[in-house]
Amino acid sequence: MKKYNSSEIKKLNMKNILRILHINNPISRKDIVKLTDLRPSSVTRLTRELIEKGYIYEEGIYEDNAPGRKKILLNINKEAFISLIVDVGVNETIIGFGYFNGYVEILKKILTPKDPEEFFYEIKKFYMKYKKIKNIKILSFSIPGLVDVEKNIILLAPNLGWKNVNIEQFLKLDIPILADNEANLSVIAEKYHAKDLKNISNIVFVEIREGIGTGIIINNQLYRGFSYSGGEFGHTVINMNSKEQCHCSRQGCWEQYGSILNVIKNYEGIIEGKDPIEKFENLKRQPNAKKTLLNWAENNAIGMANIINALNPEALIIGGELSDMPIYFYEYLIKKIRENSLPFSSKKTIIRPTIFKKYNSNLVGACIFSINKHIEEIK
Ligand SMILES: [Zn+2]
Repeated sequence: MKKYNSSEIKKLNMKNILRILHINNPISRKDIVKLTDLRPSSVTRLTRELIEKGYIYEEGIYEDNAPGRKKILLNINKEAFISLIVDVGVNETIIGFGYFNGYVEILKKILTPKDPEEFFYEIKKFYMKYKKIKNIKILSFSIPGLVDVEKNIILLAPNLGWKNVNIEQFLKLDIPILADNEANLSVIAEKYHAKDLKNISNIVFVEIREGIGTGIIINNQLYRGFSYSGGEFGHTVINMNSKEQCHCSRQGCWEQYGSILNVIKNYEGIIEGKDPIEKFENLKRQPNAKKTLLNWAENNAIGMANIINALNPEALIIGGELSDMPIYFYEYLIKKIRENSLPFSSKKTIIRPTIFKKYNSNLVGACIFSINKHIEEIK
């Protein structure tokens, strides 16, 4: 076991307190003592240092049972650390600021240039512009595909047509760069902000867009797989008799039946829209689309039940384009997921739509990813 000297122990304790504050805030010093087993005097000293460094601040809260008396709680200073976050979408890319309290501010939406060189040139221009406004410490990307998170290489983003795109070859910046798969980031975001997931450590986030991605947290750790392709449930076969080939070269993949491209194709009617996302937006508002949407829900229920049977998660969260559907859709989908999965596996599983609107889960996830990285590297 590694031996730590006193200054290293102090650093570890400070980081630990910051992580606790990110899970429970606002919080009293007394509750930090309870959660860490540190001595009250150590908590006082460490939190004083965190206040001096600008990471946290004190706020006075009036207590119901002691009128007139204020209780001092600690909270996170939003401006202590700011990242520039980029949600790369197949059609549209969203750029924003990510703050130290896990909240984001959307700055700009652009059409995604299909050529990576052109894309990163645009991003660099925004970075140069926004760094004049805020002290940006990290640039963090959400990617609709597989990412080597150690080397910042986009291994494959099929719907963008990008393969082996080395981000740092295009972007030579004076700050660190992070990138991860969008569903991985969504599951981190949901875990961070959703109150019902605070004490839950096994979660799957299913993100349905032009493709299907899943983000998996097992025992409170993000599971990326051995070579970053874990969670590709979209390419498990749900129809052996299919003759249509998926872009992965198999036939009958869940993605072929569950992505928004499938429901658009099966809708018997004319839908307006410049791209699949816009078409899907219009489709779900059509009064006569209910039958098509419910058939599509059944396809997705099979894929999601397979996940539940394989992983037995405590929570299955449904997001991406499925984050803003009519109530009848969720009721039917959830009923079908439960019918299709083993009762032992799904009996106690929370199954619900995400707390986020649309792509905010990707953006917020990119923000949380950069916060975690920053805390890890505090000196
Ligand atoms: Zn496939």
